[in-house]
Amino acid sequence: MEEACIICGKRIAGIEVRNDYILSSIRWFKRNVTRNEKGFRLVVCKEDFPKYYKQRKSFERKRSLYIGLGVVFAAALFILSEFNLYSLFYGIGIVVFLYLLSLVSYMPALETGSEAGKQKHDTAAGSAAASSHGRRTGIVGKATKTKGYKHE
Ligand SMILES: [Zn+2]
Repeated sequence: MEEACIICGKRIAGIEVRNDYILSSIRWFKRNVTRNEKGFRLVVCKEDFPKYYKQRKSFERKRSLYIGLGVVFAAALFILSEFNLYSLFYGIGIVVFLYLLSLVSYMPALETGSEAGKQKHDTAAGSAAASSHGRRTGIVGKATKTKGYKHE
C-alpha cells in the first residue's frame, strides 16, 4: 500500500499513524458514504514531524480542556438541578458534545505507544530466532564445505 503524509499530503515514507476508532470511522465514512477512500497508509514524514508534534500536543491539550469543561458543566448542572438524575443525561451530552468539538483539530497518535513497543519486542524475538537459525545454517554450510573438501 502506498504511504501518504498526513501533514504535507506527499506520498512519502514516514512514521506510521496508529489506526484508532476515529480514523476507522473516517475510513468507514469515506468507503460507504462519500466513496472516495484512497487507501493510503497514513504516515508523518520526517520533515513534518515537529509540525505534527505541535499539532498533536495542541489537540491533546484542547481535548483535556474541553472534557474538563464538560465535566465541570455537568457537575454544575447536576448540583443546580438539586441532584436531578435527568440532568446527568444532559451533562453527559455536554461532555460528548465538547469532546466532538475538540475533534475539529484532531491529530492521530503515532505507532510509538505500548502496542508498538510490544510489536518491537516480538520483532526482536523473531530476529533472534532468525539469527540462531542463520548460525545453524552456517554450521551446516561449513560441514558441507568440509565434506566437499575431504571429497576432493
Ligand atoms: Zn510530510
